[in-house]
Amino acid sequence: MKAADKTGAGHGGARPKLGLETSVAYVKGIGPRLAEQLATRGVRTVEDLLYHLPFRYEDRLNPAALNELVPGTMASVIGEVRGSILLRTRKMPIFELTVGHGLHSMKCMWFHGTYLKDKFRVGQMVALYGRVEGSRSGRGPMKMIQPQIEVLPENPADEERMIEVGRIVPVYESLGGTTAWGAKLTSRWLRRVMWNLLEELEVDAVVETLPQALLGGAALPTRYEALRAVHFPAAGTPMGELQSAGTTAHRRLIFEELFYLELGLELKRRRMRERAGIAFATDAKVREAIKQVLPFHPTAAQKRVLGEIAEEMRRAHPMRRLLQGDVGSGKTIVALQAALIAMENGHQVAMMAPTEILATQHSLSARRILEKSKKNYRVELLTGSLEDDAKRRVRARVMRGEADLVIGTHALFQEQTEFARLGLVIVDEQHRFGVQQRFALMSKQDAVAPDVLVMTATPIPRTLALTLYGDLDVSVLDEMPPGRTPIATRRVADEEQAKVWEFVRGQVEQGRQAYVVYPVIEGAKDDQPELDFPVDVPVEAEETKSKTKKKTKQEKLFERPTLKSATEMHAALQTGALKGLRLALLHGRMDADEKDVVMRRFQRGEIDVLIATTVVEVGVDVQNASVMVIEHAERFGLAQMHQLRGRVGRGAAASHCILMTGGKVSEQAEERLNAMVRTQNGFELAELDLQQRGPGEFFGTKQTGLPEFRVANLLRDRKVLEMAKRAAGVFIEQTEPQISAGERVMVRQMLKQHWQRKYGLIEA
Ligand code: ADP
Ligand code: MG
Repeated sequence: MKAADKTGAGHGGARPKLGLETSVAYVKGIGPRLAEQLATRGVRTVEDLLYHLPFRYEDRLNPAALNELVPGTMASVIGEVRGSILLRTRKMPIFELTVGHGLHSMKCMWFHGTYLKDKFRVGQMVALYGRVEGSRSGRGPMKMIQPQIEVLPENPADEERMIEVGRIVPVYESLGGTTAWGAKLTSRWLRRVMWNLLEELEVDAVVETLPQALLGGAALPTRYEALRAVHFPAAGTPMGELQSAGTTAHRRLIFEELFYLELGLELKRRRMRERAGIAFATDAKVREAIKQVLPFHPTAAQKRVLGEIAEEMRRAHPMRRLLQGDVGSGKTIVALQAALIAMENGHQVAMMAPTEILATQHSLSARRILEKSKKNYRVELLTGSLEDDAKRRVRARVMRGEADLVIGTHALFQEQTEFARLGLVIVDEQHRFGVQQRFALMSKQDAVAPDVLVMTATPIPRTLALTLYGDLDVSVLDEMPPGRTPIATRRVADEEQAKVWEFVRGQVEQGRQAYVVYPVIEGAKDDQPELDFPVDVPVEAEETKSKTKKKTKQEKLFERPTLKSATEMHAALQTGALKGLRLALLHGRMDADEKDVVMRRFQRGEIDVLIATTVVEVGVDVQNASVMVIEHAERFGLAQMHQLRGRVGRGAAASHCILMTGGKVSEQAEERLNAMVRTQNGFELAELDLQQRGPGEFFGTKQTGLPEFRVANLLRDRKVLEMAKRAAGVFIEQTEPQISAGERVMVRQMLKQHWQRKYGLIEA
C-alpha cells in the first residue's frame, strides 16, 4: 500500500482500492473523523476492522415462534409492535412493549425506560434478543426483561433489509465512537459498514496467509471466504456452531492465529536446542551416588521422569524441561536427584523457590538428604532475610565455586549472583513466577547454557502447557507416592464452628497437627493482601448504591461481611476454643526470621495448630499435619484451595480438609466448594478453574507474556490448537511436499511481522 493510505486524512482525492492495510478512513460510512475515534480502540486499518468479529448472531431467517419459547433460555424473536405503555410504579418508571406475531404475543419490559417512550409505533417490526421468562402462573404469554431491541427496516426495496432481515445477522460489540450528531455507533451501524466493506473488497485484496496444502488438509476455507462467512453467515449455518465460534470459517481464522503462534514457539525451541550446553555423565558412579541418598523407593512415575531428565542432561544441548505434578506427587526428590547428577559432574546447582519458607524448607531437606552422600556437598541458603554482609559472603563463596547447591528466593537470583560453574537451574512452583523472571535467569550464563528444570503443581492440560511454556519439554508425575489415604473434605457452616474446633482438638490429642487458614492477616480494614482471588461483588449492591442515602435492607444483606483474620483468630482461639493447645501465627508480614522459627517448630511438632494466611499455600511439607481448616473458604480460588489442601494427606494418617463458610456464598463459590468436596483430582479442578476464570486470569496473561488473541481462545479452541501445533511441526520438518517455495517465503514473512508485532514480548 502507498504511504498516503495509512494517514487516514486523505479524503478529498480519489478513493484508493481497498486493501487490508488501507486506513478505515476510506471505508464507506467511516471517513476521517470516525477513523480517529476508531483508532483509539485500536482499529486503524481495514484488517483491524475485519477482525472485529461478531460476538453473537441472531437468526432472523428462522426466528423463534412466540408460542414455542422456553422459559430460562435466550431467544431471538421477530414481531410487530402491538402497543406500549409507560408504567409509573412507586420505585421506578417501567416501559412495557407488547410484541406480537400472528395469534401470539409477548411483553417486554425496561426499567427506568422513560427514554423509550416515543421510540416505537404500532405496526413496526422489531427484532428482540433476550432471556425468556415465564409468567408467574406458568400459563399465559412469556416475557422478556430488558431485551436488546432493534427496529427493522420496512421498505422491502430498502438495501438495508438485505442486511437486517431474512438472514442470520451478526451482532457486534460497540467500538465506541459517535455519529456527527452525537448518537452512539450501534451494532447495526457496524453491520452496514461491514457489509459495504465486504461488498467492495476484492478477493485478491485479502492476502492468503496459509499454504494451500494446510487448508486443504484441514478442510478449511480461504481467508477471504472465512472473513465473509464469519460476518454474514450463509443461510443454514448451524446457529450452535456460530455462537461457539465453531464454524469452519471461525476455525480457519483461529487456526491461522494459532498456527503462527505455534510456529514461532517451535522455531524458538529449535534455536535453543542449537545452543551449546553441558553433556553430563550419568554413568554407574553417578547412579550409585543417587541411590545412596534416596530416602524411599521412588514411584514408577518418579523413575520414569528422572529417566527423561537424565537422558536430556546427557545431551550436549541445554535442557529446558517442565516437570508437572500435582500437589504432593513428590517433585522435590526428583529435583534433588537431578541436582546430584549435576554436582557429581562437578557443577553447581541453583534452586529457586517462590517464598522464603519454601526455600528454607528445601535447604533443610536437601542438607538432610545429602548428608548420606559420601561427598561433602555444600548447601547454601540465600534469602532476603540474610544480613547484607552474610549475603555478600554467600555470593562470594558461590562465585569462587565453594558452594555446590544454592537455594534461595527468586528475588535473590535476580540480583547479581555469579556462579563459578553453574550447571543446572531448578525453579520450584513456577506458576508463582512470571515467565519474564524465568527468562531472566535462563539467559544469565552465555557461553554454555545451564540446564533448566521448571516445576509446577498447576495441572495445565498438556497442549496448553506446550503453548504456555512453548519452549519447554514436559514431563508429568502422574502417580502419588504409596500409602496416602484420601483427604476427607467437607463443608461446614460457621454456625457449627464449635464442632470443628472440637474435632481439631481431638486430632491434636491423637498426636496430629493442624493448619487453620484465613484470607486476611488483620481485621476489617485490611486490604486483603494475601488473597489473590478476586472477591465476588454481588451485582445487587451496585444497583441500590446511588439511589438512597439510608441503607436498604438489600444493601445490608450484601455488605461485605467483616472477615475473620489470622491475627484476631489466633488470639481468640488461644484463649477460647483451642485453649491449652500450642498455637502459633504465621503470615507474610512477619520477619523472615520469625517465620523461619515458627516453621521449624511446626515441623518438629512443637506447635499443634498453625494459624496462617496463604503463605502456607505452596510447597510446605509437614507429614504429621493431618487437618486443614480453611475459614471463609468461599473467598478462595480453586487453585488456592487445592494447594492448601495439599498441605495435608502427606503421611499415612487419615487427613481432613474442612471448608468453613461465613457470609454470602455466590453461585460460583458454591460451585468451587462443591468441586473441592467432590474430587481431589488436580486436573479436574484446574479444568473448572479455567472455566470460571478464563485463560487470561488462570494463567495470568500479563505475567505469562502470552499474546492477546484476536479470535482464538486457548480454553475453547484446544482442538484447533493441537491441529495448529501439528501443522507447525509439519511445516518446519518440510514433510509436506505440497507447500511451494513461494508459500514458504510468505509464511516466514508473516511470522516475522506477527512475531514482532504481537509476540514482541518473547524475543524471537
Ligand atoms: P510436591 O510434588 O508437592 O513438591 P513433595 O516433593 O513435597 O511434593 O513430596 C510430598 C511428600 O511425599 C514428601 O513428604 C515426600 O517426602 C514424600 N514422598 C515423595 N516421594 C515419595 C516416595 N516415592 N515414597 C514415599 N514418600 C514420598
Ligand atoms: Mg513442592
